[in-house]
Order: sequence, then structure tokens, then C-alpha cells
Amino acid sequence: LHVDEPLAAGATVGLDHERAHYLRHVLRLDRGDRVALFNGRDGEWSARIDGFGKGWCSLAVDRQRRPQAPEPDLWLLFAPIKRTRIDFVAEKAAELGASVVWPVLTRHTDVARVNVDRLRANAIEAAEQCERLTVPDLREPAKLDQVTRDWSSDRTILLCAEAGPVKPIAAAVAGLKPGPVAILTGPEGGFAKDELDGLLKLPFVVPVGLGPRILRADTAALAALACWQALAGD
Ligand code: SAM
Repeated sequence: LHVDEPLAAGATVGLDHERAHYLRHVLRLDRGDRVALFNGRDGEWSARIDGFGKGWCSLAVDRQRRPQAPEPDLWLLFAPIKRTRIDFVAEKAAELGASVVWPVLTRHTDVARVNVDRLRANAIEAAEQCERLTVPDLREPAKLDQVTRDWSSDRTILLCAEAGPVKPIAAAVAGLKPGPVAILTGPEGGFAKDELDGLLKLPFVVPVGLGPRILRADTAALAALACWQALAGD
């Protein structure tokens, strides 16, 4: 389970109503049963259920199961898409090891509001399920031109584009200088021509292709993450 509190031997962690309900009535755990906790900083800890109350649960943390290990510094910048598909992207990006998930608003982005809290909840659940010890940082949506204007140029942007001067992703990743990476994918309608032209002029942008087929926006984001993990992740 992901928690916010510091984890150390002797610490006590309280769970809210929803999580207490989940442990008691979904997993059918009882006093004395054990659960694994992580907070993204202190590794994974084993904790014993101390007791349930009306809408709460108290856990006694005792021993560390796994230390916190470094994880790939891989960001996903993606143009938001329809509700169920964006939920899917947040969930799978967490499983595929994205450290930051950032909705970027492009000219053809056709989504009025992004519920970042819901995406964050999906990412936490996915992190718990796949046993990673961090949760991706789910950022508030920002406009594409603002994101690239404020960009720290030591992070390469792998710009996923279905046409234009792209290199296959494997060749592009093999040719990258060592350093952090962000994957950028466009919306259902693709990037506007001048957006693409503007991106291609930036020194930290490397255009990459994911094969000859036009992938749906969610497929492209997850395929790119999976490729990068296979080629350069650990
Ligand atoms: N209309 C479809 C949809 O409903 O999702 C296709 C959208 S495609 C234009 C959306 C984005 O996916 C593109 O902007 C690009 O970032 C990425 N993409 C799709 N196919 C790709 C490919 N073969 N190589 C690289 N990126 C691709």
C-alpha cells in the first residue's frame, strides 16, 4: 500500500476510511495480519494491523523488506484524450516505470478538463499492483509551448511522430547522449503542422517513429514507454 507517512521501525500509520474498508472487507484481513507499505522514499516495509475502528485502521511498522532503489528518470508528456483512455494511460505509464506523467495541451487537444486526482489514484493503484516503490508524479496540465519554453535542456524529448523526419525509436535511443528522457505524444488529431515544425527546431527534441502504422494516441504513449524500457531501462 502507498502511504504518505515516513516509514521506519516503530512507526505507526493510520489509514483512512476507504483503505481501512479495502483491507477489512475486500482483502478480509484482520488484526495481526501483515501488509507491505511504501511511500516513495523509505523502501518497502512490513506492517502489522494493530486494529480497526469505525472508518480507520492502524498499522504498526516493524521491518524493512526492500530498500528504496533508484528508478529510471523517464517522463511521459502526452496530450490528454478521452476519459477511459486517459485513465488507461496513467495506469499503464505507472506500470511501465514513468517517473513523471504530464498532460500537455496541444492545438488539437479536444479535452476540456483533466481530472488529475483521478489519474493520480489510478497511478497509485497501478504502482501498488506492480510492486514498484514509487508513484509517478502526476502533474497539472500545461500548454505545450509553455512546457517547451521552460524546458531544462539537459532532458531529451523523444517526440513521437507518425510522419516526417523520424528515426526508428531503437536507432534514436541508441544514439542518445546519456541523460534523462521525456517521451512526448500527440492527441487524437495529431500535432498541428506548426507545432511539429516548432518542436523540430528545439535542440533537445529527437523525433522518433514507432513503426509504419498510425497508432492511437494511447497506444503510441505506451508503446514508446515500453520500447524505451526495453532499450535503455533496467
Ligand atoms: N486518430 C488516431 C487516434 O484516434 O488516436 C491516431 C492519432 S495519432 C495521430 C496520435 C499521436 O500518436 C501522434 O501525434 C504521435 O505522437 C503518436 N503516433 C501515432 N502513430 C505513431 C507512429 N507510428 N510513430 C510515432 N508516433 C506515433
